[in-house]
Amino acid sequence: MFYDCRTGTVLGTGHRRRGSPSLYVLDTLRLPHISAHVSSAASSSSPSTSSFAKWHHRLGHLCGSRLSNLINKGCLGPTSIESSFHCKGCKLGKQIQLPYSISDSHAAKPFDLIHSDVWGPAPFVTKGGHKYYVIFIDDYSRYTWIYFMKHHSQLCSIYQSFVRMVHTISTPIKVLRSDSGGEYLSTAFRQFLLPEGTLAQLSCPGAHAQNGVVERKHRHLIETARTLLISSFVPSHFWGEAVTTVVYLINRQPSSKLSGQCPGEVLYGTPPSYDHL
Ligand SMILES: [Zn+2]
Repeated sequence: MFYDCRTGTVLGTGHRRRGSPSLYVLDTLRLPHISAHVSSAASSSSPSTSSFAKWHHRLGHLCGSRLSNLINKGCLGPTSIESSFHCKGCKLGKQIQLPYSISDSHAAKPFDLIHSDVWGPAPFVTKGGHKYYVIFIDDYSRYTWIYFMKHHSQLCSIYQSFVRMVHTISTPIKVLRSDSGGEYLSTAFRQFLLPEGTLAQLSCPGAHAQNGVVERKHRHLIETARTLLISSFVPSHFWGEAVTTVVYLINRQPSSKLSGQCPGEVLYGTPPSYDHL
């Protein structure tokens, strides 16, 4: 059990992990509600200061610099930039890790190169019974698609659905880059790639850095989903809904890789709307 040092309020409980003398697993977490933070900020500063916090949460805990970029471009209406803004959810949900090496891939047009990887198993099964997800990332636009899976064996049929979607907006995929996971090496999967004219580029076993684009994306998705769950007091088995939300949002967030444009803007040619968030 742990407490707020100032108020003595119980913030959460946990139990010691079996076989580990000092590692505890968090069972419950109850942080002071965000509205308290927002209202206190609003009372001590201008009303627009709270809007910065609101947009930070609406956009999936978007980092300050990229949020400021959107505000400066006028995408979010009249909002003041708060350079000293701190988010408790981000501090708890996001961790510092050495970055993977920057990818040297630069596709000339959409769907020339697709990055893909399977993540899981998750520590919790979703309501739909899923323990894994697979992502596909278009190298040109950095647009991300996510599909949930109960078993690795579902990858082939999911990829076929993805390719059918790609056919409606583009020419066939030229290169599919992935790790050497068994699901990408199956006979059925390779036999599907051949008539499509898609080249399978496989990274070396264990060399995750060679698949840096999807590895960075996994980290971004999981950390941001964890931050959403923690800051919204939502149980962990809703991780699937949280990751889906994050994918929806990051396709609408400006990216430094795209000179400040959003993935959806680059792929579909129209800037995103934020009015519905
Ligand atoms: Zn945050």
